[in-house]
Amino acid sequence: MNELLARHRAVLPDWVALYYRDPIELTHGEGRYVWDAEGRRYLDFFGGILTTMTAHALPEVTKAVSEQAGRLIHSSTLYLNRPMIELAERVAALSGIPDARVFFTTSGTEANDTALLLATCHRRSQQILAMRNSYHGRSFSTVSITGNRAWSPTGLSPLQTLYVHGGVRTRGPFAGLSDEAFTAACVADLEDLLGHSGDVAALIAEPVQGVGGFTSPPDGLYAAFREVLDRHGVLWISDEVQTGWGRTGDHFWGWQAHGAAGPPDILTFAKGIGNGMSIGGVVARAEVMDSLDANSISTFGGSPVTMAAGLANLSYLLEHDLQGNARRVGGLLLERLRAAAAGVPHVREVRGRGLMLGIELVRPGTDEAAPEAVTAVLEAAREGGLLLGKGGGHGTSALRIAPPLSLTVTEAEEGAAVLERALRSL
Ligand code: PMP
Repeated sequence: MNELLARHRAVLPDWVALYYRDPIELTHGEGRYVWDAEGRRYLDFFGGILTTMTAHALPEVTKAVSEQAGRLIHSSTLYLNRPMIELAERVAALSGIPDARVFFTTSGTEANDTALLLATCHRRSQQILAMRNSYHGRSFSTVSITGNRAWSPTGLSPLQTLYVHGGVRTRGPFAGLSDEAFTAACVADLEDLLGHSGDVAALIAEPVQGVGGFTSPPDGLYAAFREVLDRHGVLWISDEVQTGWGRTGDHFWGWQAHGAAGPPDILTFAKGIGNGMSIGGVVARAEVMDSLDANSISTFGGSPVTMAAGLANLSYLLEHDLQGNARRVGGLLLERLRAAAAGVPHVREVRGRGLMLGIELVRPGTDEAAPEAVTAVLEAAREGGLLLGKGGGHGTSALRIAPPLSLTVTEAEEGAAVLERALRSL
């Protein structure tokens, strides 16, 4: 065991999971690449989800952060904060939510916590609907709306949660149905649940399940859900922590794939907007946001340094049409990955949208998840100089690909070639 790993193990909790048999110490990054302490370079096909949304060491973000840090590092909601107000204005306008108010947090978990606080206070109910196989964070309230049990360290809960079908197409009772039949079955399931419950506060859902393995419902599912939810007065929270800011290519927010459904009552975001700096947040109509009778929630959310990063990053993203890049390069990468996976007996499905692509692996000839194959591909890709993510329901069943949104065609080709070799080495 190397010296740093030994120190990590000695001082950090066992449940801080590390990737790779021989964990990597990253020392620097540039563009879509990162380097380890031994000077090895890796193409980063996972940093986009692990917060580096646009590019590593983006000069515009570095400059904004260092200038702000040189002027004032502070964390308080007690004083007027210009960068926070500016970013809130921009996020409110982009959200599609009318009369929007924005509250910044430091993480996606805290953003979802705040959304739950708003919804439960607004509806005066602690019943929540969440999707099976979902992931929303690991605080006490967010684990209790996380349907993916592999990611939920406790079954104890401050909320009463009911789980809805719809996030996963390849498994469960509705697997194999057409889009229409799948949607109809999920809507009937939702109707049935609401018929048996009391007043439900909200449904929280990821438009594309992230940790769950990058699985998407049929477009329009949430529009059909919305119609039922509205009839019961249930709020809709769209968790855009992974799907926001153009990552899905065709849309700026994931909810927009369900056009008629939106905008949601509450939208949560995090990760990518700070390009590595710690930003999360909640957007909601004033009427919903004002359900909370609180003297703010946290002090650190909206710190001027992270807000400066967010402003610079958002400007870069919009000015360089990185959503369009995610659509174009993501479309090409999806094609290349489908070709790379063709005939590999472990591959169940290559899926996704934009630069959010997943490859589900099974034990050949069965329906069983193949965590050992996922790990083997991850290790082989690392040897080839490519970093990937893993996830999925029913155990570790999928490879996750989420590069920074500025990925070029050449880099997409390079990553696909490494991944092809890794898949074919199974
Ligand atoms: N929601 C979703 C959809 C996520 O993917 C995550 C993180 N993977 C979170 C919430 C929690 O975000 P954070 O890690 O910033 O607390």
